[in-house]
Amino acid sequence: MEQAKTLLKQIYGFDSFRKGQEEIISGIVEGSDTLAILPTGGGKSVCYQLPALLLPGTTLVISPLISLMKDQVDSLRRLGVSAAFLNSSLGAAEYREVLRSAMQGEYKLLYIAPERLDSAMFGSLSEQLQIPLIAIDEAHCVSQWGHDFRPSYRQLAGWIGRMPNRPLVAAFTATATPEVADDIEAMLRLNRPRRYVTGFARPNLALSVVTGVDKKRFLAQFLKERAEQSGIIYTATRKETEEVCGMLQASGIEAGKYHGGMGDAERAEAQEAFRFDRSRVMVATNAFGMGIDKPNVRFVLHWQMPGDLESYYQEAGRAGRDGEESDCILLFEPADMQVQRFLIEQGSGDTERKSIQLAKLHQMMNYSRTQRCLQQFIVDYFGETDVEACGKCSSCLDKSEPVDRTEEAKMALSCVGRMKGRFGVTMAAKVLKGSRDKRLLEFGLDRLTTYGLMSRLPEKEIADWLYWLVAEGYMRLSEGQYPTVSLTANALPVLEGKEAITQRVRASVRQAAGNASGHVSPLFDALKQWRRETASLEGVPPFMIFFDATLKEIADARPMDMDELLSIKGIGGAKGAKYGAALLDIVQTMSAESGDTPPTPRLQTASRAHRSVSAQAGSGEETPSHLQSLQLFREGLEPAEIARERGMSQVTVEGHIIRCAQEGEEVDWDRIIPPHLEEAILAAVREAGTEKLRPIKDAAPPEVTYFAIHGVLCKHGY
Ligand code: ADP
Repeated sequence: MEQAKTLLKQIYGFDSFRKGQEEIISGIVEGSDTLAILPTGGGKSVCYQLPALLLPGTTLVISPLISLMKDQVDSLRRLGVSAAFLNSSLGAAEYREVLRSAMQGEYKLLYIAPERLDSAMFGSLSEQLQIPLIAIDEAHCVSQWGHDFRPSYRQLAGWIGRMPNRPLVAAFTATATPEVADDIEAMLRLNRPRRYVTGFARPNLALSVVTGVDKKRFLAQFLKERAEQSGIIYTATRKETEEVCGMLQASGIEAGKYHGGMGDAERAEAQEAFRFDRSRVMVATNAFGMGIDKPNVRFVLHWQMPGDLESYYQEAGRAGRDGEESDCILLFEPADMQVQRFLIEQGSGDTERKSIQLAKLHQMMNYSRTQRCLQQFIVDYFGETDVEACGKCSSCLDKSEPVDRTEEAKMALSCVGRMKGRFGVTMAAKVLKGSRDKRLLEFGLDRLTTYGLMSRLPEKEIADWLYWLVAEGYMRLSEGQYPTVSLTANALPVLEGKEAITQRVRASVRQAAGNASGHVSPLFDALKQWRRETASLEGVPPFMIFFDATLKEIADARPMDMDELLSIKGIGGAKGAKYGAALLDIVQTMSAESGDTPPTPRLQTASRAHRSVSAQAGSGEETPSHLQSLQLFREGLEPAEIARERGMSQVTVEGHIIRCAQEGEEVDWDRIIPPHLEEAILAAVREAGTEKLRPIKDAAPPEVTYFAIHGVLCKHGY
């Protein structure tokens, strides 16, 4: 496993494995079929990509998500790994070309969409190629107990079984209840698989359920507090997508939209704009997202409750893939349940499937009302019970006092009781409101004693209140397209005055988190600006160059040379070679301009891994970069000349020389500190302290350079 760890650093730039990754990778490499259940953002890709690199031959990756495939392959290529994909987005000629190269074994990883596969294709691939491993992503699609069943997945097991040398099979998913997990193993006919469940908790997500608010006002405030952040708003219908998006655009927010009613080109454009950070907020139906792996989505807000917790967690889980603090907000109104019931009843699916869906809807409803830690509630649903309360969801943070609503409950319950289960919620609300509705009058409902009892409230609010009572189990709705409402046994104690009813209004979410996107530092901004320009030149989304977290770490650590840069998370060999010089340049320039002291260079000798990487990274030799600069300095070249010769900035070279001095190398101080200025610089240091360079520079004579100041600090042991 040492080898896997070295590759993790060299290729991806990551220092350590995430939870479960090491066990999963070693299990596969040792020859076990595998079912791995990792939360979204848990790092599934690495779990099959690293074995693919360690095993001889070409690993096949089956994935249903076309856009994700492209991203993965692009990312792998940027990391210097040969990979390609076969799916319907390729033209015929391109497809043949990829297939031809694949057959020659040119790729370490070949991504294939399941509908591109058939028996013949599997046959010829396995005849011509050495296939050590088949990785199946989104494996829950094979199970009809899951929420996203895809018939094409069902065939996989048969084809794999008929391959002459059956490869290892590793299945991955983020959402599987224990039944779904069993079903995946059975349906894919995994061979005595090792099962890994690393846990479903997403500690960087703050989950909230918000009820009883004016949604539009809430959203406006929410976005105002997150002016820099990128996020997704999910709505239940296309119409709402249009409405919410229009509203945001009208208030000057860069919002895009995505739903099934838009043309392919328009949708692709909207998706690209979001991935490239050109639009900040995406308003969408659930058609958007499968395959979106934009890492810096800082919030996912649901305008309405979705139909089941698996869908909710998968959609909400698109926030915070990069591990940074992110928010998942569910705006919930009790009437949402009706919308979802309607969708289920209208949907295709047989009676069994519908009753599974109704049970799932019930759980979703419970989540929306629970006062338990929301993170605990969700992981419990997936069969995990030993997770501590998260401390940041709306339940954990809720300090509000419940409001006594017994009187209103009595009014509503007695009204519904008098309507004898013959009418729906809407009509009951009209009666309580005292409406002059024609049908109401025809039925003589205005003669009920409860008519007009709640006339001071808007009708919609009364309906919501009735739905809340349904959700709490005091009333029930009948099945069918036009459900009627009636009392349950729970209503009796309330009507008799034996039970009080309290309700919490949960209207607030935690303050906007101070995460990477909200990080204020001129250096971070400069790095982001560089990333935007570079991404636009290369035609890729900014996150594919570097994540926010990586830029933030660079801004904090201010690396002085390639070795230090490569020690930052998210910078592997290939990216270091490609972008290292530009990044160092920005760091040096900005540090000099702001007058900040770069952190003391670490007195380390470059590790073997670093050294071989810096060799790839352009230095060409085994000698560390800063020593090469010193060599030239000793030969009499001035920093500016060295910089020209080595193709780096002067500040970088000066940093190299100071670093050598700090490491105990002999330097000619007089060439760094003009002797006649040394005393003046020392005086300035005494006056201004050593916390920042700028005040020293201001206190010293104007001709003193930062190089000289660094020199004095080093020579005199500050
Ligand atoms: P999943 O498919 O499980 O949702 P990904 O494979 O897309 O997750 O990984 C999520 C993010 O985490 C990716 O950006 C990936 O580069 C990063 N990542 C994966 N493994 C590690 C690790 N060991 N250390 C740091 N970051 C990691």
